[in-house]
Amino acid sequence: VQTFEQEFATLYGVKHTISCGNGTDSLYIIMKMLGIGVGDEVITVANSWISSSETITQAGAKPVFVDIRADYHSMNETLLEAHITSKTKAVIAVHLHGQICDIETIKNICDKHKLMLIEDCAQSHFSEYKNKRAGLFGIAASFSFYPGKNLGAYGDAGCIITDDDSLAERCRMFANHGALKKH
Ligand SMILES: *Cc1c(COP(=O)(O)O)cnc(C)c1O
Repeated sequence: VQTFEQEFATLYGVKHTISCGNGTDSLYIIMKMLGIGVGDEVITVANSWISSSETITQAGAKPVFVDIRADYHSMNETLLEAHITSKTKAVIAVHLHGQICDIETIKNICDKHKLMLIEDCAQSHFSEYKNKRAGLFGIAASFSFYPGKNLGAYGDAGCIITDDDSLAERCRMFANHGALKKH
């Protein structure tokens, strides 16, 4: 697992890969460790595997759904800003079927409103947008290696990638019973 984490981080050019039990845990852990909880709103899309929204609820926050584009079936970035309120903390961009959202526009809107951008890359391993990989635009990205995904393991698996040292440390501890050392 440690070798995988190192190789995945190298392939993505990120500082940290934290392996998790699955791509649902990884989303939940990211949000939990970013301090998202009761009273917060997180914007995402409804046409995803339920993990993208159930983990928002699991963290204690409220999922807010933006409609999708007719062509790529990804978040309609032109409708995003209208869903932002004073309670919005983060946006989860879901890159479905290996196709990337208009992530540049989504990132610009997040930056403008000081929102955290999380990428759900459960279906977009190594997908690129203008020569930059999906998963490298937000504060952290979540991957699933469920056997049926674009990159599948032999059973359930997932991971988080991030360049944020402090977030990485907290995620690793949360995923590992509070310990920093591997058993
Ligand atoms: C599969 C999937 C998940 C959850 O991954 P699991 O490893 O099955 O928990 C999250 N988001 C999307 C978009 C997925 O397709």
